[in-house]
Amino acid sequence: MNQTNLKGLDLPELQSFIESIGESRFRAQQIFRWMYGRGVSSFDEMNNLSKELRTRLKEVARIGNLKCVTQRQSQKDQSTKFLFELEDGRKIESVLMSEDGRNTLCVSTQVGCAIDCKFCATGMMGLQRNLTAGEIIDQLIMAQALSGTTVSNVVCMGMGEPFHNYDNVIKACHLMSDALGPNLSKKHLVVSTSGLIPKIIQFADEGQKFRLAISLNATTDEVRSRLMPLNKKWPIKELLRASKYYTQTSEEMVTFEYVLMDGINDSIEDAERLKKLAQGIFCKINLIPYNATEGEFRRPVEARIVRFYERLASLRAPVTIRWSKGDDIEAGCGQLAIKSV
Ligand code: SF4
Repeated sequence: MNQTNLKGLDLPELQSFIESIGESRFRAQQIFRWMYGRGVSSFDEMNNLSKELRTRLKEVARIGNLKCVTQRQSQKDQSTKFLFELEDGRKIESVLMSEDGRNTLCVSTQVGCAIDCKFCATGMMGLQRNLTAGEIIDQLIMAQALSGTTVSNVVCMGMGEPFHNYDNVIKACHLMSDALGPNLSKKHLVVSTSGLIPKIIQFADEGQKFRLAISLNATTDEVRSRLMPLNKKWPIKELLRASKYYTQTSEEMVTFEYVLMDGINDSIEDAERLKKLAQGIFCKINLIPYNATEGEFRRPVEARIVRFYERLASLRAPVTIRWSKGDDIEAGCGQLAIKSV
């Protein structure tokens, strides 16, 4: 008999399922709590369900689980990279970073990625498939269980373009912020995009309260198209217009991510152009010194990074340099790709 995988179902879906097997609707809430709030993966542990119901559930349903293949701990900082195997044998990575009492988990949203950013190891894999909402939230459940910590922040910045898998990512974010589940603050959940404009507009129009981060990475269309081919379809001017639409519609700040690459996008002229582009947009800028992959790009020397940062000082928007965590275990931004299998 085909068993329904309950991991990834939201409460209304779980209620329909429970009713479809002739049980009372309120049972769905109990199962939801066990599964997402307490991270339980076997019906036997759900001790407020009757023995008969647990037996019945085992016949008709299952709770899908990621399998942890390896976990690597950084020697330089408090970060851990998890390699998870999905039920179809494909593999994904997640990175847990701890700093100042905050535990931030970077989750994957796809196996591989179709966007083909030239500086990104995941891009080199191509797209294999989208993750389900259950596989996305399970990275959180597993990381908490394996590390014995409580995750306070989740960023959808691992493998994949989250807006290419929009429905599952948004569903997973709602599950992660559900009060009966992990109960993360919506403000501590960041969805990132390489710049899929129609989805930015949709995100704004739907009034989603999760944070939005956009990978900008260049100040001219020529350079951005070279780094991120999707810029040919959605150039910088239109991307900024969509960003502004988002900030005005949502009254939320947008974060621009800018990966600094030596000799590519880190000149004084780039800094000046970036200031102009960001002016008038309710935003924050994250400068991310490039993390080495096997590609052609290099991280600028520290003096160049600081010079770029100081040039942005007159901007009213906050600017930070985000030194990636876990770069010694290839867990930094843009370094995630399945090599160890
Ligand atoms: S940077 Fe993000 S969107 Fe670009 S290829 Fe890598 S995973 Fe995909």
